[in-house]
Amino acid sequence: MPRQFFVGGNFKMNPITRESKLALAKTLNDAQIDPSVEVVIAPPAIYLLSLREVIRPDVKVAAQNAHYKPNGAFTGEISPAMLADAQIPYVILGHSERRTLFHETSDLVAQKTRAAIETGLSVILCVGETLAERESNKTTQVIEEQLKPVVDTLSEEQWSKIVVAYEPVWAIGTGKVATAAQAQETHAAIRAFLAKAVSPAVSENTRIIYGGSVTAANCKELSKQLDVDGFLVGGASLKPEFVDIINARK
Ligand code: PGA
Repeated sequence: MPRQFFVGGNFKMNPITRESKLALAKTLNDAQIDPSVEVVIAPPAIYLLSLREVIRPDVKVAAQNAHYKPNGAFTGEISPAMLADAQIPYVILGHSERRTLFHETSDLVAQKTRAAIETGLSVILCVGETLAERESNKTTQVIEEQLKPVVDTLSEEQWSKIVVAYEPVWAIGTGKVATAAQAQETHAAIRAFLAKAVSPAVSENTRIIYGGSVTAANCKELSKQLDVDGFLVGGASLKPEFVDIINARK
């Protein structure tokens, strides 16, 4: 079976007002969206439930982070159990902003990933190298090191709940998108790693999406690459062009 194209919108800590949140929902609600694409938007936690109420039913809502414990004294955190209870189906984990600004290690990301999946959530699992790592030819090594703790903690079946997002750190929010060839090369390397480290079936079935300065202008070329199964979109997910990115393969 071909892998279903997946487009996620990562709103990050935006937008600030309820009005602009509703405007984003209206843009999506009024748009013609390719029905073969799985679309997921990840607003700040405070908007998860209200956005879910107003957004069209074929667009899913995701959290941008979750703790690994079900409850307890963890001020400021949200648990996977709470997300599951609120029927939020997806969570983004391991985003480079979480890894860098909030010091999340790959072991912690793996722990969170397992907790989320065992609670019934699906996970958009982000990996990616810095510019210095790419320039010293360490891209594959870095990504394998980020994926390894997840491989070690999940069963083969649990991989059906994972979408891997390859997001080179140097491309996030910088306007410097990876070339189609760079994206394809790294996606193929991730798929080869999954074949070796998990199984050929998981490698074949897991969606690997690209993130980092994706726009309406560059998405078509990227979407034609054999191993690019969609996008995780930051800045452009807050603009009407998000619809063009969703429809990249149309
Ligand atoms: P960007 O962000 O599209 O603004 O580069 C992507 C992301 O961080 O997921």
